[in-house]
Amino acid sequence: MKKKKAFITGITGQDGSYLTELLLAKGYLVGGLIRRNAGNDLGNIKHLKSELKLYHGDMHSADSISLALSDFKPDEIYNLASQSSPLASFTDRLGTVMVTGVGAMLVFDKAKEIVPKAKVYQASTSEMFGAPKQIPQNEDTIFSPANPYAVAKEFAHRMAILARQDHKKAQFISCGILFNHESPRRGLQFITRKVSVAVACIKNGLKNSQVPLNEIGQPIIQNGKLRVGDLSAQRDWGYAPDYVEAMWRILQQDEPDDFVIATGEVHSVKELCQEAFAVAGLDWKKYVITDNHFVPPVQTGPLCGDYRKAKKIIGWEPKTTFSDLVKIMVEADIKNFS
Ligand code: NAP
Repeated sequence: MKKKKAFITGITGQDGSYLTELLLAKGYLVGGLIRRNAGNDLGNIKHLKSELKLYHGDMHSADSISLALSDFKPDEIYNLASQSSPLASFTDRLGTVMVTGVGAMLVFDKAKEIVPKAKVYQASTSEMFGAPKQIPQNEDTIFSPANPYAVAKEFAHRMAILARQDHKKAQFISCGILFNHESPRRGLQFITRKVSVAVACIKNGLKNSQVPLNEIGQPIIQNGKLRVGDLSAQRDWGYAPDYVEAMWRILQQDEPDDFVIATGEVHSVKELCQEAFAVAGLDWKKYVITDNHFVPPVQTGPLCGDYRKAKKIIGWEPKTTFSDLVKIMVEADIKNFS
């Protein structure tokens, strides 16, 4: 039987890499768009490189997306590429809008032109809810984005719905409204990973020069302290490998639709710190301090997802608990930064 083909933008990212592993295990041929400056290392997908068809390209370049789709001719497209940090989006508004918003529109347009039968998955986000009055949030909750990243994602989300509704040439584009999901492959600019790396560096007694840098180019641990924004900020944190399974299930449906993917539980940054330092037998209060620099200009949350629709229609549920997620991340980083 002919193998199905899946094309992934953002294949080198956290989700792109786990999704690639899942699709290869399911017998797909997997292709992906990588930036020219991704180098030979390829980070999260270096162990899979020989099994993939990779295309140099950029979300800024419609031509590069066209060339890749024309050559690979996928049955499924997962649009995951993004400037994905809400905090960084305040200082790079244009870059974020171009990659995360306009870039998504280019992927939809080129898919419609080149592979009109392909099913497209769009990586939407709970950040589109902003600071919602309705808790938990579901597919009908009003969007009220509170950062440029979420504004760009809402644009892409609405363009996806428009393309789906086109009565002359409707496209199959489904959106997963995913709540935060984390793993040892999460970028170092995100709070969960900063905490797990900080615990590892403290536990292993790393010197300042050996400690990786945070999003503002400073060691994550300085003078033995981790600086965080708002300890009371609350998020619904899941485990990334569980969430890429939802992406695949969303594209196996007969009709395109939108689905909230979440755990339905919220935890604060304080709880995250408590749990993570406890995994290494440390008391978080000795090592964590707050710093306004890491508080975004406009706050979002509390974000807590209601995933009942996904459970009912695509048969998806989160498998990994918050405690297990934190343990997985801290134990992995203790090995990574030994
Ligand atoms: P990530 O780790 O930050 O990965 C982002 C990917 O986008 C990387 O492969 C990156 O490539 C690529 N990219 C960035 N700019 C690009 C450009 N100009 N052209 C081509 N590729 C570019 O993000 P993630 O956590 O895997 O998330 C996947 C998607 O889901 C993103 O769209 C994100 O916004 C969305 N999302 C994530 C979460 C979450 O909690 N993780 C929640 C909701 C939605 P390089 O390796 O070259 O930088």
